[in-house]
Amino acid sequence: ERIISTEAGEQELSFEQSLRPQTLTQYIGQDKVKENLEVFIKAAKFRQETLDHVLLYGPPGLGKTTLAAIIANEMGVNLRTTSGPAIERPGDLAAILTALEPGDVLFIDEIHRLPRAIEEVLYPAMEDFCLDIVIGKGPSARSVRLDLPPFTLVGATTRAGSLSAPLRDRFGVLSRLEYYKEEDLREIVIRTADVLDTEIDMSAAVEIARRSRGTPRIANRLLRRVRDFAQVRSDGSVDIELANEALELMQVDRLGLDHIDHKLLKGIIEKFRGGPVGLETIAATIGEESHTIEDVYEPYLLQIGFLQRTPRGRVVTHAVYRHFQMEVPSE
Ligand code: ATP
Repeated sequence: ERIISTEAGEQELSFEQSLRPQTLTQYIGQDKVKENLEVFIKAAKFRQETLDHVLLYGPPGLGKTTLAAIIANEMGVNLRTTSGPAIERPGDLAAILTALEPGDVLFIDEIHRLPRAIEEVLYPAMEDFCLDIVIGKGPSARSVRLDLPPFTLVGATTRAGSLSAPLRDRFGVLSRLEYYKEEDLREIVIRTADVLDTEIDMSAAVEIARRSRGTPRIANRLLRRVRDFAQVRSDGSVDIELANEALELMQVDRLGLDHIDHKLLKGIIEKFRGGPVGLETIAATIGEESHTIEDVYEPYLLQIGFLQRTPRGRVVTHAVYRHFQMEVPSE
């Protein structure tokens, strides 16, 4: 399994659960998002109303689920969690909505994967807190309107662009999560080390942060592996030499790129003279699905300026040649 994958494995989920900050104050970084939410939450509480629906979007592993839980906690209500692909029929959604208590937060992860027919059930639920359901079949079928308790929908998606416009328009708050700054990730690493009761040097925390691709999920995972290494190879405390050694062993380079990123970038350089080359061709060359490349590998490479998207395909930048200590091609 890829060490810098942005997906969490089964075991990792319970580890993550234990690390989740509970309040906005404990949530590190994402200052703009936090500031906005703080105001909206305070205002809603002051007016004793439910919070407006919130859409969180951005790359995986940046803390959308964590934020949804914090919103529920700060509002003093229950959190109910589901995901777009888990809701297959309108009845599934109706069952979830009718079981909510007034004010509850309903978190729908991967909301862009909700089937269209279910989205349509969601519109009146979001707007007027009611459900229109059809009972029976054929000529005897009739539509019944059910009232729902007021609730807050928190939707999460990696692709705000693939959400349908009518759904997107029904969210009052749209918050985009950005890749974390290195100093925020460093704080997350230090906080996690503290929870894990592991001693860590500042310089080691900085190094782990630097190789975490702006992503808390990856920072926490790297720290956990480095800690394993420290426990086996030394007294369990993490210093910079040990961190570097463990990270080298995991084949995560100074920028947080691993062998798949290397394969992808070097593939474009060696087989396509740096591009432009189409996504499908890259996918076939390195044996990965094109949507995995697009959703998982590429966003960070675009963010650090290693890849560019052009109408004719992907192009690697000169920074990549320098990173690999290759000769930069002349124009
Ligand atoms: P996905 O979209 O893939 O479900 P996510 O964006 O919902 O991911 P989370 O599961 O919320 O990500 O976060 C991943 C891990 O990172 C969790 O263990 C969480 O505790 C930690 N984390 C995320 N954001 C922060 C933060 N701002 N401060 C501290 N820890 C954080």
